[in-house]
Amino acid sequence: MTGEPTATERARVQALTARGAVAERTVVSIPRVGAEFGSSQTPDIKIGGRTVVIAAGPCAVENQETLLAAARAVRSAGAVMLRGGAFKPRTSPYTFQGLGAEAFDLLAEAREATGLAIVTEVLDPRHVDLVAQRADVLQVGARNMQNYALLAEVGRVERPVLLKRGFSATVDELLMAAEHVMANGNTRVILCERGIRTFETKTRNTLDVAAVPVLKRETHLPVFVDPSHAAGRAHLVIPLALAAIACGADGLLVEVHPNPAAARSDGEQSLTPRAFAALVRQVAGVASAVGRELDVGRLTPDESATPNESDNGASSPIHELADLDLPSLLDVLANVRDDIETVDREIISLLARRVALGRRAGRVKRVAGVPVVDPIQEHAVLDRARSLAEAAGLPYRDLAALLRGMIAITRRAQLNDAAVESPKPQ
Ligand code: PEP
Ligand code: MN
Repeated sequence: MTGEPTATERARVQALTARGAVAERTVVSIPRVGAEFGSSQTPDIKIGGRTVVIAAGPCAVENQETLLAAARAVRSAGAVMLRGGAFKPRTSPYTFQGLGAEAFDLLAEAREATGLAIVTEVLDPRHVDLVAQRADVLQVGARNMQNYALLAEVGRVERPVLLKRGFSATVDELLMAAEHVMANGNTRVILCERGIRTFETKTRNTLDVAAVPVLKRETHLPVFVDPSHAAGRAHLVIPLALAAIACGADGLLVEVHPNPAAARSDGEQSLTPRAFAALVRQVAGVASAVGRELDVGRLTPDESATPNESDNGASSPIHELADLDLPSLLDVLANVRDDIETVDREIISLLARRVALGRRAGRVKRVAGVPVVDPIQEHAVLDRARSLAEAAGLPYRDLAALLRGMIAITRRAQLNDAAVESPKPQ
């Protein structure tokens, strides 16, 4: 049909996606899943609020072993959703098209094992109900952004929809595609910038970073960025991910494979688990620089104090580690070492805080005229070691030795201050 739109048609344009259509920005909530998240108290994953989230995993579901290894790696690094295509929209019909419906059992197993929510692509309107039953988020791929029959179908189900921008689509066309979904009743739409086709050949696509603030200004919908399909090369994924978060993206969709060289699709742009862990750390820094926080899926701050926390595979049952090949094991080891270094830094900065507090206590004591070294107080600190040791599952003797060392460092700083600050005898 041609012809100018009528006034009513014009008024309806982008009525549902427009920023002013609703009072607040849309925040898409996805319940956390899996045995680990059994409690009804567990907060949902929130997309579009203050927190930033990461969905990561292989381009395609290939087999049980690879999917579980990828899921565990991305979960322990800080992803809260697992991506993985069951149905793959490949440009060439002669390449791997995905495992199809068979992949859903593997995705369900990975979801149960890790608590990660599942995001997977639906290609065919006839599969929408099936995918909606098995996934937490339905992905509509770039090649299908203007498949109106598919958009209408995903508009009729309850599940959130991650709608990718077509590689030759304008921002308005993306918004119109979202209108198709929302006009059919499903308002839980997450927009996703994944790179557009330009004259540039150094990258697979050109990441339109400007689209992020444009979309955030024009709509109330959450905006994701997929740096992997934009880049096409693994070494470009981290910088693009950082740029995306810096300019306001609410989340990232990242391809990660335990062994990218062996991936059945998109290996060149897939990160190793180790590189992904680095991405998460850097993204967390940029998120906090722009006033946001990365949701890394920790249940409560206390959880990180338990010795059972998933720590990059180190606490995985030995048989699971035994399933990994040598390069993957070395990746796990490298991740664990990075995390140990991070923890050491945190411990040392906490120790510096303890010493600063001790020095302050020392000054207060001097002004009050009480002795700086107080054996009763030191005894009380050591006494607490027993209950602290029990709570942390650590041996009492070792923890007491550590506390004694901490007390000694603090005491030396206090005595030093006392020597410098007390008036010298005339
Ligand atoms: C994908 O995310 O698996 C994918 C095929 O991406 P796109 O639709 O953006 O090409
Ligand atoms: Mn891919």
